[in-house]
Amino acid sequence: MQTLLRVIGGLSIAGGVVIGLMAGSAPVIIGGVAGGFIAGAVYFALATVLDNQEAMAYAVKQLSMSAANPGAGRFVGNAAQKKCAKCERDVDVDYKSCPHCAHRIFAQA
Ligand SMILES: [Zn+2]
Repeated sequence: MQTLLRVIGGLSIAGGVVIGLMAGSAPVIIGGVAGGFIAGAVYFALATVLDNQEAMAYAVKQLSMSAANPGAGRFVGNAAQKKCAKCERDVDVDYKSCPHCAHRIFAQA
């Protein structure tokens, strides 16, 4: 989904440039290029937001699974923890992204 949005964003930029060039007059070229970049930026921003939402949804899922299965939860103290490289809070080693700040890359524990 995020990849699709980035492709659409890229196409919007390219489309704006092409439409501007085909129209052939300076104001339309400028408008087409600017419009294309603005539309592209919106799609790229949307893709970034979705990236973060995915991390948040994953964290919520982990939390609700822990609540449903207390014996296997991350709050019982037997789960290995590591520190998030970005916000330095403790995160379960099973996490692929930080539930606090959505940071995705961890140093190996
Ligand atoms: Zn973090």
